Amino acid sequence: MQVAFDDYVWAAGVATELVNTTAEVWHGADHLPDLAALVEFTDQHGDQPGNRTALSDLARRASKADLQAVHALRTTVRDLIDHPTRDQLIAGATTLTAPALGATLVPDPAHHDRTRWAAPLNEKATVADALSLVCGIGILGVVHTLGEQRFRPCGSPTCRGAFIDTTRPGRRRYCMPGLCGNRVNVANHRARQAATRERSTTQ
Ligand SMILES: [Zn+2]
Repeated sequence: MQVAFDDYVWAAGVATELVNTTAEVWHGADHLPDLAALVEFTDQHGDQPGNRTALSDLARRASKADLQAVHALRTTVRDLIDHPTRDQLIAGATTLTAPALGATLVPDPAHHDRTRWAAPLNEKATVADALSLVCGIGILGVVHTLGEQRFRPCGSPTCRGAFIDTTRPGRRRYCMPGLCGNRVNVANHRARQAATRERSTTQ
C-alpha cells in the first residue's frame, strides 16, 4: 500500500473520522471497541482508489495489539489537532509518516501517462502503521496547502470532537456536520421557542 501526497484531503478526512471515534466524543461509547469495528472503519473510510483493499486487508489481519496501536494513534492525532501550531503539526505529522519507506512516484489513476508523489509502506506494515501514514500525510498536506488554522475543535458546545477542515472556504464548524450541526440547530430552535413563550406569558 502507498499513500499519495495529492490525496491529503481524503487522508485528513480519515484522521478526522479516526479521532472522532473515541469514547470521549461519544459520551462513553467507544466507536472502535474491537477488531470488527476497525474492519468496518477501514471499509468505510479507506475508499481512495487503490487503497480500499489495502487498508481493509490490513484491518482484517490485525491483532489486539494493532487495535491498541490504533487507539494510541487516535490520541496522538487528537493531541496534534488540539495544539495546532505549525511547528508542532509538522514535527508530529512527520513522526506519523515514519512507517513509510520513503518517497516514490506511482501511476496517476486519473492520467495514464502521468505519475504522483507517494509514500509506500513496507510489506510488514500493520493497519496502525498504514493509518499513521495516512494521518501524517493528511496533516502535512493540510498545513502545506490550507494552513494550521484548519485544525479546530467542534463548534457544538455539547460536543468534544475535533476536525481538520479541508473545505474550500474553510468555514466548517462541526466535527460531524450532520449530527453536531443539527444538535445546535435544534438547541437554538428550542431556545427561540422558549423565548417566544416567555414573551407571550409576560405580555
Ligand atoms: Zn461535534
